[in-house]
Amino acid sequence: MMLAEISVQGAPIYLVLKCPMGFRSGCPCKWQVTTERTKTQLDRYGIHTETSHQAENSKFLTVPQKSAIKNLVRGNPLMPPSTVRRNLKNMDSSSHVSPHMTPSVRRLVVHARNDLLATFLDDVEMDGSFGSMELRPSEVAQN
Ligand SMILES: [Zn+2]
Repeated sequence: MMLAEISVQGAPIYLVLKCPMGFRSGCPCKWQVTTERTKTQLDRYGIHTETSHQAENSKFLTVPQKSAIKNLVRGNPLMPPSTVRRNLKNMDSSSHVSPHMTPSVRRLVVHARNDLLATFLDDVEMDGSFGSMELRPSEVAQN
């Protein structure tokens, strides 16, 4: 729509489109649409191959990585985050986590561990403080 409106004026329009995975994997592929008065031309720079998107520079964990981490924590809730990340290397390649993601792994392990322990302790929120381990007033009245 915008291209048609501007091209009536006669000046060529250049629209550069980058690969949508470029921000994650550094994929250099680009397309340029040149719209002139009499023709529209599509140019491509770079070729997509099966290895174009293998590099993973995102700072967010993927869904397979998250579920693998939660499974490991479920198996051993007291496993340290560094061990969890090391053990991911024994699983399939989609759940491997690079070292720059260590803080994300640590955060998810703490979150998953808290969820798991809250489930185990029957609705009593155990936040690590001494107060959470004391009896509630209703329980004191029964004893
Ligand atoms: Zn690409």
